[in-house]
Amino acid sequence: MTPLEELRHSASHILATALLRIYPDAKLDIGPPTDTGFYYDIDLDHKLTAEDLARIEAEMKKVADENQPFLRREVSREEAADIIRSRGQERYKLGRLGDIPEGEKISFYQNGEFMDLCAGTHVRYSSKLKAFKLLSIAGAYHRGDEKNKQLQRIYGTAFPTREELARYLEQLEQAKHRDHRKLGRDLRLFVIDEDVGQGLILWTPNGAIIRQELQDFISAELRKQGYSQVFTPHIGKLELYKISGHFPYYKASQFTPVVENESLAKILQEGCSCADMVVRLDAVSSHLAAQVNERTGRETITPDRVLPDDRLLDGFMLKPMNCPHHIKIYSSQPHSYRDLPVRLAEFGTVYRWEQSGELNGMTRVRGFTQDDAHLFCTEDQVAQELLGCLALVKIVLTTLGMSDYRVRVGLRDPDSNKYTGQKENWDKAEAACREAAKTLGVSFTEEPGEAAFYGPKIDFVVKDVIGREWQLGTVQVDYNLPIRFDLTYSGADNQPHRPVMIHRAPFGSMERFCGVLIEHFGGDFPVWLSPEQVRLVPISEKTLDYGNELLALLKAAGVRATVDAHNDKLGAKIRRAEVEKVPYALVLGGKEAEARSVSVRSRARGDEGTVPFDQFLAKVLEEIRLKSLSVKKPPAGAGPA
Ligand SMILES: [Zn+2]
Ligand SMILES: [Zn+2]
Repeated sequence: MTPLEELRHSASHILATALLRIYPDAKLDIGPPTDTGFYYDIDLDHKLTAEDLARIEAEMKKVADENQPFLRREVSREEAADIIRSRGQERYKLGRLGDIPEGEKISFYQNGEFMDLCAGTHVRYSSKLKAFKLLSIAGAYHRGDEKNKQLQRIYGTAFPTREELARYLEQLEQAKHRDHRKLGRDLRLFVIDEDVGQGLILWTPNGAIIRQELQDFISAELRKQGYSQVFTPHIGKLELYKISGHFPYYKASQFTPVVENESLAKILQEGCSCADMVVRLDAVSSHLAAQVNERTGRETITPDRVLPDDRLLDGFMLKPMNCPHHIKIYSSQPHSYRDLPVRLAEFGTVYRWEQSGELNGMTRVRGFTQDDAHLFCTEDQVAQELLGCLALVKIVLTTLGMSDYRVRVGLRDPDSNKYTGQKENWDKAEAACREAAKTLGVSFTEEPGEAAFYGPKIDFVVKDVIGREWQLGTVQVDYNLPIRFDLTYSGADNQPHRPVMIHRAPFGSMERFCGVLIEHFGGDFPVWLSPEQVRLVPISEKTLDYGNELLALLKAAGVRATVDAHNDKLGAKIRRAEVEKVPYALVLGGKEAEARSVSVRSRARGDEGTVPFDQFLAKVLEEIRLKSLSVKKPPAGAGPA
């Protein structure tokens, strides 16, 4: 553990110590550190409230002040079980003890009267915990499984200093106002309807504008980089995912397959049980298994999943990935080395089965549209293609004012042999990832063991304006699928060669990316992304005609505008435009109508005075064209920096 994780994890021991003083009957599960703090999952009949949290926190303070040392004790498995039972914690802790592999050391840590099964590590004394806070209580299923009991999860955070804690709490406060679920509702950007289904985003007109603008922007950049747009359906045959290996290996994270009515009726007649049906869905035909196994040079499809053809049951899957469809487009034609790289891009919608407890607004969903593309290239082109992918990310993030980001390069675990492909290829691809990451001019870390089994990858983590980090998408090099699907191109030697695939969805999904952007901008989107760019505000009915005339001109120029024809006071109209976060409100009085001018109120800079309408139009069009970020007016008296 890092020193910060150590501090936070120790805080969860101290939390448990305090909790048991107040609720001796509480049954403890686990209390790990997280990226932003720590939690402890507990089973307690009493439903904890905010007042209870304050009480527990006060007790934690006492425990910290008692300056208890953290003492380690190694025990045998039997002793461990005895300790757990003697403390009345067998409900979850015995199971956790069972998780520890045979032969591994088993240890307890004691601080004061409390003792917990734990591998460590911890701070030396409880008094190290000076700056902490309990934040919230949430439900969490034991082992994240909905079939298990729901426990209460107490979240908290801890920092080395009070200043850092204060800064973090301030950030949390700001984050509440920026919560994309709240802003999404207030600004009518998206809805989730229980009748449609949890985790399925309905993009309402305002949100759809933002998504479309982003897609257009990304598409234009992709065209410049030589990508070809493709479209593919939302489903594919099970067989396809058996070849790719997505099914049944990732079955738990996918929607149940769709089986045709006729096949279902037929197997019902045969008296096929559900269990039998699952086996027949999962299995692969023997000739397909032989083909894949021969191509991969190993037994990737094992005999216990192979059935004779007439025992197989075929169906369709909601696609969990776009790769197999794009692969089929590639393999539909012969390719020469001169055609490569082939770059196929699609805003492709995919479906994944997430536990309902994991769902969260737009950022954790069950259906989402990836900014996906697959590049098919020669071994020698990998480095150049990675550079192109990263250049695109840089352009998009910089345009959105997210210049604070870092990348993680996922490499092989040097001690593992789970990776497919040849060592030399891996070496080259890893070096290419590292070199590409360097060109970005931002910080990057290398993470051994984080590569996919089929190739190294680059992940993007952006920091938003209030300093929170968001993991976006990824670029992955893949040696595996070209083999499984037997992809080839003919080389200069006229012989067939294997292309390398690069999967890239650098922004992850449109849902997640927009969710992050809503919070990043706090709803104050730059003009080019704003669902409504200009609000015309006639002072009274007398200038309504002038308003409608300008509306027609704005619309003809491609500016998204409306007229506020309500019958209320000017102040109310201006406030409405502000609440709805419209970048420009143009106040139209008699004088303005006569002079064909507008009185400009900017969301970012306040009153900007009266200017001829044509001048305003030219300025706003330029701002849209340049995708300018909203620049706030410097405070009065501020000199040059
Ligand atoms: Zn511990
Ligand atoms: Zn892919």
